[in-house]
Amino acid sequence: MKITDLRCAIIGGQPVIRIKTDEGVDGYGSAARLRSAHIRWHVEYYRDLILGSDPTDVERTMLKIRRLGAFKPWGSSVSGIEVALWDLAGKAANVPVYKLLGGKVRDRVRVYNGAIRTPLSAKNPEDYAESSARMKDLPQGFTIIKQAISFHGKMDAEVPDYYYGDNQGVSIPGMHPSPSYPNRGLLTEKGFNHTVNCVVAMKEVLGDEIGLALDCGPGMTVTDTLKLARALEPYNIMWLEDTVRGDFSPSVDPDLFLQITPHTTTPIHTGEQIYLRENFKNLIEQKAVNIIGPDPLDVGGIAEMKWIAQYADLHGILFAPHGIGVGLIGLAAQIQAAATYPDNFIAFEYSTGRPDWWYDIVQGLPGLQGQPETIVRDGFVDVPDRPGLGITLDVEIAQQYLESEDKDFFE
Ligand SMILES: [Mg+2]
Repeated sequence: MKITDLRCAIIGGQPVIRIKTDEGVDGYGSAARLRSAHIRWHVEYYRDLILGSDPTDVERTMLKIRRLGAFKPWGSSVSGIEVALWDLAGKAANVPVYKLLGGKVRDRVRVYNGAIRTPLSAKNPEDYAESSARMKDLPQGFTIIKQAISFHGKMDAEVPDYYYGDNQGVSIPGMHPSPSYPNRGLLTEKGFNHTVNCVVAMKEVLGDEIGLALDCGPGMTVTDTLKLARALEPYNIMWLEDTVRGDFSPSVDPDLFLQITPHTTTPIHTGEQIYLRENFKNLIEQKAVNIIGPDPLDVGGIAEMKWIAQYADLHGILFAPHGIGVGLIGLAAQIQAAATYPDNFIAFEYSTGRPDWWYDIVQGLPGLQGQPETIVRDGFVDVPDRPGLGITLDVEIAQQYLESEDKDFFE
């Protein structure tokens, strides 16, 4: 089997990658959302490098392009191509992708709320309490909920005198300010206390029935992170995510996390911006954090995820992958990979289809077709047994939503 084409279309804001072959089998992947229209060019940049390759030799094909990506957002195209190769290889062998990744160790995978968030009217303790109460009642029955606080929760922009710095964050709809201007700095005592009070308010609602994870930065200092981690020790937080580095940081900096992690019982988490296993090596070997959370569509794909999960497990580090913005194809890929992770796997961040008509395009996800709220039951998603990623795209429906420059995408 040989690759004959590589294409990218943006469908409802979600970049979709298609690999065609000379045997009529094709594979689909996705790049992470909100990466700009240039993603088409970026995916096509890799086309000539993989044309003629046998896509079922995923590793050999990936070796031709994996070195040509970078930290978020520039690992997304390579990652999406990797996912499409696995989809294709699974379809060609008529087995689910999890079989090719070593076989499943679980029949259902735990997810946390991720893209399903109840909006906060403001950034005060009562708003966080109300939002958490509504999340607790969601039909998906999430057993872990993640909320955004501090710089990640835009407290720097919305809470007066929150930190010793000027708010220069530019708010892009649907996007955290940090991609355009990363606010950072020391918290004021008032800002610090405000942050703690918001967390305490959430814990009063959630009790010990639902785990609470907190996405915090990046932008926090080492000292504020350690102070916060220690102040929250009595509340058994699941993890503090991306405090000093994370999101779109272009570096890993285990030495910063080593000033925090060994000095608190609150688990410290990072990793969504990191590209490739090589860049997790020091973080894992130095045990600089307790939990890592690569994103399959930024790190280099799902085999990359599995490799990192196993290496982390050997070092006593837990695994809670990032995944917001990966869409429904990305969700299908997460499910396949998560079925195979070792037992350091906690849960992955659940992704939704936006706009809603994405649920008409993607067929075969768990739950009832046309009822997206049934995909997650009691906080888990069942692992499908169909070939490839376990989904099929309704091309006729998808065709209606193609932008004019993508009109021949399915031909
Ligand atoms: Mg995060």
